[in-house]
Amino acid sequence: MTHFNHPTPPNTENRDPAARKDFLREKVSEDAASGRFGRPIHTRFPPEPNGFLHIGHAKSICLNFGIARQFAGKCNLRFDDTNPTTEDVRYVEAIRNDIRWLGFAWGEERFASDYFERLYGIAEELVRSGKAYVDSQSEEAIREGRGTVTVPGTPSPFRDRPVEENLDFLRRMRAGEFADGAHVLRARIDMAHPNMLMRDPLLLRIRHAAHYRRGTAWCIYPLYDFAHGLSDAFEGITHSLCTLEFKDNRELYDWLVREAGFDRPPEQTEFARLELDYTVLSKRKLLRLVTEGLVTGWDDPRMPTIAGLRRRGVTPEAIRAFADTIGVARSEARIELATFEHAVRDDLNMRVPRVMAVTRPLKLVLTNYPADRVEMLDAPLYPHDVPKTGSRPVPFSRELWIERDDFMEEPPKKFFRLAPGREVRLRYGYLVTCTEVRKNQAGEIIEIHATYDPATRGGDAPDGRRVQGTIHWVSAAHALDCELRLYDRLCAVPDPDALPEGQDFVSALNPSSLITVRGAKVEPSVAADPAGSRYQFERTGYFISDPADSRAGALVFNRTVALRDSWAKVKDR
Ligand code: ATP
Ligand code: MG
Repeated sequence: MTHFNHPTPPNTENRDPAARKDFLREKVSEDAASGRFGRPIHTRFPPEPNGFLHIGHAKSICLNFGIARQFAGKCNLRFDDTNPTTEDVRYVEAIRNDIRWLGFAWGEERFASDYFERLYGIAEELVRSGKAYVDSQSEEAIREGRGTVTVPGTPSPFRDRPVEENLDFLRRMRAGEFADGAHVLRARIDMAHPNMLMRDPLLLRIRHAAHYRRGTAWCIYPLYDFAHGLSDAFEGITHSLCTLEFKDNRELYDWLVREAGFDRPPEQTEFARLELDYTVLSKRKLLRLVTEGLVTGWDDPRMPTIAGLRRRGVTPEAIRAFADTIGVARSEARIELATFEHAVRDDLNMRVPRVMAVTRPLKLVLTNYPADRVEMLDAPLYPHDVPKTGSRPVPFSRELWIERDDFMEEPPKKFFRLAPGREVRLRYGYLVTCTEVRKNQAGEIIEIHATYDPATRGGDAPDGRRVQGTIHWVSAAHALDCELRLYDRLCAVPDPDALPEGQDFVSALNPSSLITVRGAKVEPSVAADPAGSRYQFERTGYFISDPADSRAGALVFNRTVALRDSWAKVKDR
């Protein structure tokens, strides 16, 4: 696998969509120009409603909906719900919600489970034409009979069952006469085919289970290959885009749509699935995290789910820009987390206001500042390089909170923040000089005393003396208490899917993926903002007030992403 790093992903959101080019778009473009399908370009996004969508699905969504939009076609949302035991209407609702939030609208909404009757009709047709048969071997015997890549399969003893007998069995399978596993319907192709998937693949199997939409009305369920290509064909899809692991399935896909008699059938093309460092993109694994209580739910901000990313503060624009940046390729590549975070920062930088918040507060007393004075400083909401304006009033007073990390009693050489005898700039405020360090009996620093220079309001010294460091602060009397949830990467290793044999991915979870900080302080300008508001906490990171848990008087902020890649810094040291 190659490793791609994109230190500066271009912001292509507003680029002319017609300018976007990749091998898929080139192909679609040719097909659109030649009118090969005799119908408008039609794609589909086909999730199985057995979990929440993740960032990998977002790549597929951006691709399928993006191509439909670019070529004036349509994209269907199809729930690929052919497995009664794992699916749920709750997931259907979450999937709809996430796609809309990402900014896409589907053409038609379809359910593969509505096609059971039609698929059954095709099954009977295949039986009649000698292209399918009912196999009564056990699942194990069927598996063994399939052979290996080097050894051809052995035909089932039921392979040459007469058509009438096959039809009879098939009808009784449908009528519910048999137990799970008693019989299956198989395509009759070639037991020695070099493509193992073509060795008489299973089409229908018996499952006596309640389906979330069909209840118990149906007891024979189509397998993926049988349902998928034909569902595409029923809907008039032109381009069926899927991930590379389905490459070998294409031959069967083509066989089925051809045998079912479709004129100008859809065509499957594969692209590389998204794999992102330090996380897992598999609904099965994510479901385990949820059911085992290792996260708080599908929308836990550590999850790579769309719902998790949303709660974490990531915007749909950032996700779309990320999808654009990574593009589509024909071979697998893991993407560095830094690439994703860069897209997130790039987007938030342009849209969110700046405010000041102190994570681990230390009291700073300005001994020459009048105890009863409060100044309202006018602080810009956006820096000069952001095309947005506005300001907020920030109270300044004698007692302030500063970051514990911004003071050092014995500073090393390159420490430009506060230290005994040193002068530092309080952002938007004044220059202050540290005069005293107060400690408790245990020797812990509890309070810093300083003097302020009244001539430096706004941060500049009239005599032109240079002060290197600028720190943020919050007026103690006006600060709002808040809880900060500092989120970090879900897994401790870059590729949790490639652990040594026998090691569970759960053992590779990052134990510090969430650090909860209570007693943090934020400036009062945020008091009336609704939950779900995003900010840059100056010098710290991007935060969102937690959409579920934050309320007036009990503010909770999730860290979306730190301002800089702290891990890169660690590496560089
Ligand atoms: P999972 O393994 O997470 O369950 P899946 O492929 O089984 O994924 P589906 O609901 O079947 O999930 O996927 C719907 C669509 O999303 C499919 O077309 C699939 O190819 C695509 N998709 C799923 N995961 C990724 C990924 N990591 N990168 C790109 N596309 C993906
Ligand atoms: Mg799947």
